[in-house]
Amino acid sequence: MNTPDTKRITEVSRRRFLALAGVAAAGVWLNPRLMFADDDTSPVIIIRKAAKTATINVTRLRGNVSVLEGSGGNIAVLTGPDGKVLVDAGITASRPRIIGALASLSDDPIKHLISSHWHFDHTDGNEWLHSLGAEITGHENVPKRMSVNTRVEGWNFTFPPAPASALPTVLFSDEKSLEVNGTKLHLKYYGPCHTDSDISVHFSEADILHVADSWWNGYYPFIDYSTGGSIDGQIRGAAANIARVSDKTIVIPGHGSIGNKSQLIEFHDMLVAVREKVSALKTAGRTLEEAVAAKPTANYDAKWGGFVISGDAFTTNVYKTL
Ligand SMILES: [Zn+2]
Repeated sequence: MNTPDTKRITEVSRRRFLALAGVAAAGVWLNPRLMFADDDTSPVIIIRKAAKTATINVTRLRGNVSVLEGSGGNIAVLTGPDGKVLVDAGITASRPRIIGALASLSDDPIKHLISSHWHFDHTDGNEWLHSLGAEITGHENVPKRMSVNTRVEGWNFTFPPAPASALPTVLFSDEKSLEVNGTKLHLKYYGPCHTDSDISVHFSEADILHVADSWWNGYYPFIDYSTGGSIDGQIRGAAANIARVSDKTIVIPGHGSIGNKSQLIEFHDMLVAVREKVSALKTAGRTLEEAVAAKPTANYDAKWGGFVISGDAFTTNVYKTL
């Protein structure tokens, strides 16, 4: 994959990424422009390295639900006498600081882990959390993806099979309800969205909805077309989120800050607008390179593309899934 051009970019990219990683608490993520990837510059390797020093920010939301930000995707935590319930596990390299953050919330043992989808920045910590006693729940496609070699073209990385102890063992196909710590949790499958394994988790009494990577608050999303994601699925997920929240719902995105309904609507509308522009180019017979050169995201980049995924990268991502 290394052309002279990409070699030249690599060092700058590495420095830029490490700088971004320093503010990982805001959900900083990899720019696919950097994914030219010799092995040691693969986003997966870089993100795992950055997680060794990432700060974990703890925010109490309401109803004994908190969020930990800074290691991979946002982690929701419900505390109480039945033991802690986590939604997503972060990156293993952050384990000492995640343990510290969890201990700052309560002394309850970790009893449940819900995996929002199969991606490593949400499931990397599954193994150690399971070793501490967490039973893992997820959509039935999560273990299907995690238990075999899985290639993610957009990350230029092939994941080896995860150890059996990292896999969810409580599985469902459409939806599932449970009651823990006096709180009803409702888990719902999106259908193919950002991957083919995405679910949301609603904490009913607190009215907090963790929507995982169906939403990147303020950023263009990465859409994993290698494992079932598409722009149309991402739009369906965004529309479903809008339909099920009220103005009072606290919404936890997979990446980015805690948000609300109006921000969900902005994200949805951006996805629809970019899809229309890229679709028109593709329908008109433009190649991927021509479509990127046409800058269909130009009017959106200042708001959505300045931080994580560039407009060009997002155009590429959308084009490939249409
Ligand atoms: Zn993801």
